[in-house]
Amino acid sequence: NVPKQPPKIIRLDESVVNRIAAGEVIQRPVSAVKELVENSLDAGSTSINVVVKDGGLKLIQVSDNGHGIRYEDLPILCERHTTSKLSTFEDLQTIKSMGFRGEALASMTYVGHVTVTTITEGQLHGYRVSYRDGAMENGPVACAAVKGTQIMIENLFYNMTARRKTLQNSNDDYSKIVDLISRFSIHHVKVSFSCRKHGSNRPDVHTVGTSSKLDAIRSVYGVSVSHDLMEVAASDDNPSRSVFKMEGLISNANYVAKKTIMVLFVNDRLVECTALKRAIEVVYAATLPKASKPFIYMSIVLPQQHVDVNIHPTKREVSLLNQESLIDIIQSEVESKLRSSNTTRTFQTQI
Ligand code: ADP
Ligand code: MG
Repeated sequence: NVPKQPPKIIRLDESVVNRIAAGEVIQRPVSAVKELVENSLDAGSTSINVVVKDGGLKLIQVSDNGHGIRYEDLPILCERHTTSKLSTFEDLQTIKSMGFRGEALASMTYVGHVTVTTITEGQLHGYRVSYRDGAMENGPVACAAVKGTQIMIENLFYNMTARRKTLQNSNDDYSKIVDLISRFSIHHVKVSFSCRKHGSNRPDVHTVGTSSKLDAIRSVYGVSVSHDLMEVAASDDNPSRSVFKMEGLISNANYVAKKTIMVLFVNDRLVECTALKRAIEVVYAATLPKASKPFIYMSIVLPQQHVDVNIHPTKREVSLLNQESLIDIIQSEVESKLRSSNTTRTFQTQI
């Protein structure tokens, strides 16, 4: 009777490790689009165009007019942990770019086929390179190119059967991508965005850059939404409570909707903050007679060292220093705005 041995521990193959990690960074097609658009914004682009086929599973293509990528950087572009944005851990405290870990492009090459076309200022032609599993596969070959970079991901999750199956059965990935581009476009109003399905010449989001936030909301979310918005602002400069500035546009008492739309940017990063969203929903529910959910666009700016950007693999949730007091201040500002809009409304209907 041989004593039962515990299972043997082995070292996972590098390719397995990389694919698992990549599946966490790129959870769905929309996560890939977010990473690509953030790279385009980091590259100083003023025009970003997205094309999607099959909800992103067949093709995601993001083209920008940013600074491009140097020829000599192309060999390591899609290796894990290669970045032009960070060099020491301390840099994380002051980082302004949205990317910093050099993981997005690499991840895409482990779960899809990536082709990059790029040209830098002053060059006569660009280069095209394709990547697989972190390494160059074909190229760089010289090719015609206009200003900037185009990144194409084909056959996303081709090597992750279960992921591909679940995504194939859900057809809301394209609308998630449209929603994402809509959100970016109302904050980055100087950048013109478009998003369309492959083969269609009518974009589902299209903004032209230059307009105000309200104009952007009007063109993306519609006239009726933009009609019923009011400006809010709040700030605090007491370091023992919180230090921040908030500006935004929120729906007034006339606005009616079944679902909350909250578009939140913290230090220009598109993020989610469930606690803040709840706090604002509570105010709307308590103040308005009709059970309408709000539309909220908010931009919060706080000292870099008060935001920890590194808590989530997709960088979606951020944690803020003194979050509770910040939420309290914003909540009471929203409440007073909403109360006054509510009385105005009653007053107007009485006349
Ligand atoms: P990160 O954004 O964290 O640095 P990525 O894997 O997303 O990592 O990108 C790696 C590097 O590739 C970036 O640091 C940047 O130098 C370059 N890069 C990626 N996309 C673009 C783009 N659209 N335009 C210019 N450079 C880009
Ligand atoms: Mg990036």
